[in-house]
Amino acid sequence: MAELLRGKPVSDEIARNIESRIAALHELGACPALALVRVGERPDDVAYERSVMKRAEALGVVTRQVTLAADAEEDQVVASIEAINVDEDIHGCLLFRPLPPHLDEERVCNALAAKKDVDGITNASLASVFIDSGQGFPPSTADACLKVLDHYGVPLEGARVVVVGRSLVVGKPVAMMLLARHATVTLCHSRTPDVAAVTREADVVVFASGRPKRFGAECVRPGQVVIDVGINFDEAGVMCGDVDGAAVEPIVRALTPVPGGVGTVTTATTLLHTVEAAEVAAREQTDIAIERLM
Ligand code: NAP
Repeated sequence: MAELLRGKPVSDEIARNIESRIAALHELGACPALALVRVGERPDDVAYERSVMKRAEALGVVTRQVTLAADAEEDQVVASIEAINVDEDIHGCLLFRPLPPHLDEERVCNALAAKKDVDGITNASLASVFIDSGQGFPPSTADACLKVLDHYGVPLEGARVVVVGRSLVVGKPVAMMLLARHATVTLCHSRTPDVAAVTREADVVVFASGRPKRFGAECVRPGQVVIDVGINFDEAGVMCGDVDGAAVEPIVRALTPVPGGVGTVTTATTLLHTVEAAEVAAREQTDIAIERLM
C-alpha cells in the first residue's frame, strides 16, 4: 500500500516557520495582514474565507474582509483592489475566484500590486514563475505541491514528472516550478491521446484536471509518487480527488490523500507568502527610516 503523503505535517512545518518569522516582525512593530476580497456570496467562497480566517488567526496573521455585492460594478471591484495596493497595513490580498461572469477577471486580477499578490494571480507573478523576475508570488496551490514533495524528500532533479492539467492556477505554474528544479517535465491536457500511457512513464505524477476519480489503476505503475491536486465531489456529494484512490493506492509508492493532502497546504502557503510580503515591506520601511536619519 502507498505511503500517504498527508498535508498536515507539511502545513504544521510551515506554521512553525511562520510563527517564528511573525515574532521577528512583531519586534520591528510590524504585523502581517491579509485582505480577503470576495464578490458575492458563493457558498464555496464563504467557506474558504472562513477557513483562511481561522488559520490566519491561529498563526497571528491579521485578516481584513473586503466583501462586495454579487452585482458590484467592475470599477468598484478594481477600486477596492487599488485601495489595498496603497494601504501600508495590508501586505497580501487573496481574491476569491471565479468572479461573477459580468466582471473581467484579467482586469481585476491585474489591478493588484505584484508585491501584494500572495496567490499568484497577476501577470507579473506568473511571468516570474517563468523568468524568475522576483516579482509577486507563485500560485499557492502550485507552490503547495512543491512543498509537499520537498517535505517528503521526493527527489526532483532528473526525475520524470508528468503534470495532468494546464491551467494557470495549477498545471502550467507547477510544471515550470518543477522544471526550475531540474525535473524532466511533460504536460498533458484534454487533447492528449492516451494520457495513461504518458503518466505510467513518470516517476512523479501531478493530477490537476478537476475530473472526479478519473484516473485509476491504468494510469500508474509501482514506485511512483502521485500528487492529487483535485478537489471534486463524486455523485454522492463526497469530496474526492482526480485519482481513484482505492484503485491507485495499492499500486504506487506514495500518494496525497483527498481530503487531507495538497488542499491542507495551500492556505498555509498563502499565509507564508503574506509573511514574506510583510518582511519585504518592513525592510523597505527600515531603509526609509535609515535614509531619513542620514
Ligand atoms: P481547470 O482550470 O478546469 O483546468 C483543468 C485542466 O485539466 C485543463 O488544462 C484541462 O485540459 C485538463 N483536463 C481536463 N480533463 C482532462 C483529461 N481527461 N485528461 C487530461 N487533462 C484533462 O482546473 P484547475 O483550476 O487547474 O483545477 C484543477 C483541480 O485542482 C480541480 O479539481 C480544482 O478543484 C483543484 N484545485 C485544488 C486546489 C487546492 O488547494 N488543492 C486549488 C485550486 C484548484 P484543457 O486545457 O485541454 O481543457
